[in-house]
Amino acid sequence: MAKIQMTTPLVEMDGDEMTRILWKMIKDELILPFVDLKSEYYDLGLVHRNETDDQVTVDAANATKKYGVAVKCATITPNAARMTEYDLKAMYKSPNGTIRAMLDGTVFRAPIIVKGVDPYVKTWKKPITIARHAYGDVYKASEMKIPGAGKAELVYTGEDGSECRELIHEFKGPGIIQGMHNLDDSIESFAKSCFEYALDLKQDLWFATKDTISKKYDHTFKDIFQEIYDAKYKTRFEEAGISYFYTLIDDAVARVIRSEGGFIWACKNYDGDVMSDMVATAFGSLSMMTSVLVSPHGYYEYEAAHGTVQRHYYKHLNGEKTSTNPIATIFAWSGAFRKRGELDQLPELVAYADALERACIKTIEDGDMTGDLALLSTLENKKTLTSEEFIASIACHLKNELA
Ligand code: NAP
Ligand code: MG
Repeated sequence: MAKIQMTTPLVEMDGDEMTRILWKMIKDELILPFVDLKSEYYDLGLVHRNETDDQVTVDAANATKKYGVAVKCATITPNAARMTEYDLKAMYKSPNGTIRAMLDGTVFRAPIIVKGVDPYVKTWKKPITIARHAYGDVYKASEMKIPGAGKAELVYTGEDGSECRELIHEFKGPGIIQGMHNLDDSIESFAKSCFEYALDLKQDLWFATKDTISKKYDHTFKDIFQEIYDAKYKTRFEEAGISYFYTLIDDAVARVIRSEGGFIWACKNYDGDVMSDMVATAFGSLSMMTSVLVSPHGYYEYEAAHGTVQRHYYKHLNGEKTSTNPIATIFAWSGAFRKRGELDQLPELVAYADALERACIKTIEDGDMTGDLALLSTLENKKTLTSEEFIASIACHLKNELA
C-alpha cells in the first residue's frame, strides 16, 4: 500500500514520561506504516527544555504560527520536586501556558464517546465541548482582608491623573474584598476562537455569564460576544445551519444536563475550570478527553487533556507492563492530520484521520481496552490489555479500516 502523502509539515512537540513512551509507539505502529509523515520536530521533554533554557517551547510556538497546525505530547510542569528530579536550572513555566499566551488561544476540551462507557447523565448522546477563557478574573485577582470598620473602594487612575471611584462597602467590622479584571482584547480573542471553532465543528455555540447580577463586568462579556457575532459571524452561522445562543449561567447548567450534547459551551475562566471537571467526570474518563488550542488567527494545537501519567511511567521504568490509555494522544494526532488535510486539500489524509479514530473506537467496542476503561465499561467480553497490546490491536483494526 502506498503511503499517504503530506505537503505541509505538522509541528510535532514531544513530551515527557509515560506519554513520551506512548508517543513513539503511536508513531511506529499507527502512523509511520501508513503516512509519509512530514513533521518539524520539537523536543519539549523536560531534559531538552532545561538544555535550551525553555527556548524550545518558544520555537515550537513560533513554528505553530508559521505552519498553522501542531500536535503536542503531555509535558511536565515543573514544581519543587521536579527541580530536584531533573536538576533544573530554573522552575520553567508550564509549556501549555507559554504556548497559549503566544498563540492567544482558547482551549476546547471534548470527550471521546464509546459504547460500554456510558455518560452518567442519561440524556447525553453526543460530546459536549467546553471552551474555557484562559485569562483574568479570579485567577489574576488582588485580595485583601479587612481588619475592621472602614471604607473600601475601587479606584481607577487614568494616565492623565483623572480618577474614578466606586464604593465596595462601608465595613462595620472585619471582612474580605477582592478586585479582579479582564481585557476587551482578551475577551474578543476568546469570542473569535469560539465562533471559528463552532464553524469548524458545525456545532451550536452556547455562552453564559451572570450579566443580570454583574451588570458591567459580565455584561461586557455578553456584549462583546454579541457585537462580534453580529458583525462577523451571523451570516456564516446561518449558512452553516448552526446557532449562537446566550443565556444565564444557571439556566445554561440546567439546559446542559437536560440536553443531548453535541454543542460547544463557552465558559468564563472560573466557570470553565469547574464545569470542565464536571463534564469530563460525567462522560467517564480523563484519559478519553481531547484538547485543542484554537487561536483567533486560525492556528491549531492538538493534545490529550491528561498529563504525563507519572505513576505508570515509574512502573515502566521498573520494567513492569503498564496499561496506559493512548486514545486521547492518538486523537491529538488524528485531529492534527484532519486539520492539515483540510487546509492542504488532501482528502486521503482526512480519510486516514477518520479511519484511525474509527479503529480506536472499534477496538474498545470489540472489548479490547486498557485498565482505566475496563473499570468503567459495561461490555461483557472486555479484556484488559497492556499499552503495547492495546496499540497492536488498534493497528490491526486500522489495517482493516484502510484496506
Ligand atoms: P495525569 O498524568 O493526568 O494522571 C493522573 C492519573 O490519572 C494517573 O495516575 C492515572 O490514574 C490516570 N490517568 C491519566 N491519564 C491516563 C491514561 N492515559 N491512561 C490511564 N490512566 C490515566 O496527572 P499526574 O500524574 O498528576 O501528572 C503528571 C504530570 O503531568 C505532572 O508533572 C503535570 O505537570 C503534567 N500535566 C501535564 C499536562 C499537559 O501537558 N497537558 C496536563 C496535566 C498535567 P491511575 O494512577 O489511578 O492509573
Ligand atoms: Mg479544575
